[in-house]
Amino acid sequence: MSDYPDTQLYIDGQWRAGSSGRSLPVRNPATGEVLAQLACADLDDIAQAADAAERGFEVWRRTSAFERYKAMRKAAQLLRDRVEAVARLMTMEQGKPLAEARLEVMAGADTIDWFAEEGRRAYGRVIPARQHDVYQLVVKEPVGPVAAFTPWNFPINQIVRKLAAALAAGCSIVVKAPEETPASPAALITAFIDAGVPAGVINLIYGDPAQISSYLMAHPVIRKISFTGSTAVGKQLASMAGLHMKRMTMELGGHAPVIVFDDADIALAAKTMVASKFRNAGQVCVSPTRFLVQEGVYRDFVAQFLEHTRRLKVGNGLDASSSMGPLANPRRVQAMQSLTEDACAQHAQLLLGGKPIKGTGNFWEPTVLTEVPVQARAMVDEPFGPMALINPFATFDDAVREANRLPAGLASYAWTRSARTAQQIGGALEAGMVSINHLGLGMPETPFGGVKDSGYGSEGGTEALEAYLNPKFISQAGLH
Ligand code: NAD
Repeated sequence: MSDYPDTQLYIDGQWRAGSSGRSLPVRNPATGEVLAQLACADLDDIAQAADAAERGFEVWRRTSAFERYKAMRKAAQLLRDRVEAVARLMTMEQGKPLAEARLEVMAGADTIDWFAEEGRRAYGRVIPARQHDVYQLVVKEPVGPVAAFTPWNFPINQIVRKLAAALAAGCSIVVKAPEETPASPAALITAFIDAGVPAGVINLIYGDPAQISSYLMAHPVIRKISFTGSTAVGKQLASMAGLHMKRMTMELGGHAPVIVFDDADIALAAKTMVASKFRNAGQVCVSPTRFLVQEGVYRDFVAQFLEHTRRLKVGNGLDASSSMGPLANPRRVQAMQSLTEDACAQHAQLLLGGKPIKGTGNFWEPTVLTEVPVQARAMVDEPFGPMALINPFATFDDAVREANRLPAGLASYAWTRSARTAQQIGGALEAGMVSINHLGLGMPETPFGGVKDSGYGSEGGTEALEAYLNPKFISQAGLH
């Protein structure tokens, strides 16, 4: 019926069904149709994946950094060669426009390349000793088998940041990929298998997320956990990781402020921020959400923001003319409905959208709300959808106070022509990332992560590789 395949588990070098034969339907969010079935892991399968990762680790840690690099570079090239097929799977299962899916696949390949190269530079150091004839060495060792949990908004990107860093460091991995978008992750793993990564090094499972995480967190073989998802789930997992003394990277939700000062290039800010706001239908942890616009340019900014938003064409991501696809699942449509109703009940102005689009699929209109009281739920909970909230502010301090009001601290944005304001706002925002006068986040070579309730650790830059390495100190005296 469609060219979308059933997806299986990949454990110990074999693609296979779950031991109980259980499966889940995978739906196309643009049409509601069932695309295929997904194999689900039960406890036996999860245990086998952990055992395989233990054996895979013994093989991979002994593979030289140079050999690991060669296999990873090959996987990156295979992914590039397959971009059209993989992007199509992603659009069918997740909804994003094909152009965005292609970019995600290509960016995934770049991420693999960067970590492959960086793995060859996991240098230790020599520390001058206090005695003659003593060498004090610091060597970097892989932490061990990793368990990674990734969400459905970027089916490849969310996995590849963890997978590439883990493999480059010499770790094996069990990936619990998203049940709603399983085929493009399987295509990513296939590129590594075809590039010659040995059995057991990468294991891919799907199933009941809570069952899988509670089992793997407690498993003595697993030494490191990496999770991307909501703050609520992240906090549960972080407490479990603490109980079992596991290292942890947490990339959680955001609620990004965008501060537009009176002296900003309003035309550029409105155009850039609309493209960023509605990318992936707003289902992005760094999506610009709380727009704080200084009073002198407020009306002008709102007018230009609306003009660009009206030009968006919402439709099936497979249609080349669509600039925004459906939401990835019905839960997000319900969330948009309830956040919009709540904001309007609290006298926010609904300037655009605010309704589901009639017909099949999880389509929601691009939505712009202004004058939104800070008590509205949308001003507190991450909307994670195509919703922009725009409010005016008077002074620099007012803007900073509002930007830092929430416990989230992931991305933030600012627009100003003043070097002095740019420097001050960069320092004042409580966020893991600040992008000023352009969209400058998310490259493999730059840190990516949050502070406060947005989590800890980085998924980019040299920090991301360090997260998969343990420093070991060796002090060695000469024998006489
Ligand atoms: P959710 O909170 O149930 O799930 C979020 C992700 O966590 C999913 O991938 C899910 O499979 C996983 N998950 C849930 N419970 C888990 C557990 N016990 N162990 C391991 N993994 C678990 O809800 P949702 O409806 O999928 O998403 C809702 C919210 O999650 C969004 O509004 C957004 O705030 C956040 N989210 C954030 C990101 C991100 O990139 N940081 C991505 C997706 C979702």
